[in-house]
Amino acid sequence: MTSLDYYASEDLLADDERAARDRTRRFVQEEVMPEVVPCHRAAKFPEHLRTRMGALRLFAPYLKEHGCAGLSYTAYGLIMQELERADSGLRSEASVQGALAIYAIHSFGTPEQHARWLPGLVSGERAGCFALTEHGHGSDPSGMETRAKRVGDHYVLNGSKCWIGNASIAEVKVVWAKDEDGRVGGFVVEKDAPGFRAQDIEGKFSLRMSRTSECWFENCRIPAENRLPKASGLKIGLDGAGDYEGAITRLASDPHDGSGQGAPRADFFGEAQQCLDGAPVRAESARHPGRRRHHRYLFCHPSPHES
Ligand SMILES: Cc1cc2nc3c(=O)[nH]c(=O)nc-3n(C[C@H](O)[C@H](O)[C@H](O)COP(=O)(O)OP(=O)(O)OC[C@H]3O[C@@H](n4cnc5c(N)ncnc54)[C@H](O)[C@@H]3O)c2cc1C
Repeated sequence: MTSLDYYASEDLLADDERAARDRTRRFVQEEVMPEVVPCHRAAKFPEHLRTRMGALRLFAPYLKEHGCAGLSYTAYGLIMQELERADSGLRSEASVQGALAIYAIHSFGTPEQHARWLPGLVSGERAGCFALTEHGHGSDPSGMETRAKRVGDHYVLNGSKCWIGNASIAEVKVVWAKDEDGRVGGFVVEKDAPGFRAQDIEGKFSLRMSRTSECWFENCRIPAENRLPKASGLKIGLDGAGDYEGAITRLASDPHDGSGQGAPRADFFGEAQQCLDGAPVRAESARHPGRRRHHRYLFCHPSPHES
């Protein structure tokens, strides 16, 4: 137990979870910490760390396929905690590459799309990004203005995105846009796609080491097969571990709510409540051999299932 382990959570970890955390901690201590201060001051991400992070299988480590580490969500949390110890920008690098770009393609893409894009993203040899937020639409993505129009065997994208991690360098960009039927779809925009341009946002104080960009799509043409066929609506489940967890990430599943103002935020708060209600129930029912999994969850009030 470490001196700050007030909840004795160390005892609850499996060997592979502890090993993943310790491996990440060593990487952070030995390879990242010496670079953090100059990189933070210069507001530059040390790009060579991406392939090191790939080699250490730090991207989407909860997935089993495509070279991902196949670890538990607990291990994922521990890995993120260690990366965050160095710098939020380092943790953000892993989140954008893994939980956003890789996870979206894994969840919504075909086996052919997996084979085409995932190996390079998992190894860190190719940078990925996830472009959802727009200049006027952050918390409420149902107001999305970016459009994708089918023209023959291509889609033509028009619109803009803002605050997108790594958009200016990403070779595999997962871009969210509304099609002609008003459905939100995921489209992979590859490096050098005509009509794409990006510019980094300078002078951030927070997440300073992260590269964050604005980007524009001006008649940007991509092959029709770059649409992720299983993405329909803004169902952006980040971990798929349970219905309630999917619910809280389903920010605005119906862009046609009839109000003319985008989906009401009450939609989100209702799903947040569903998440809170569902968490203790799932935690109580989920067991690992020899130990009750609900000890892994922190409750801010006593669970109704605990006497
Ligand atoms: C460094 C950085 C990196 C990012 N990386 C990415 C990325 O890789 N991809 C991507 O798609 N996006 C990214 N984002 C965008 C991020 O997801 C948005 O900033 C976020 O969704 C909030 O949107 P906003 O900034 O427009 O704030 P707003 O939506 O304008 O919200 C401003 C404030 O109002 C609150 N608020 C909003 N609506 C309501 C409501 N109805 N009721 C009560 N309170 C409300 C919010 O909680 C917030 O405190 C990034 C942002 C930053 C700063």
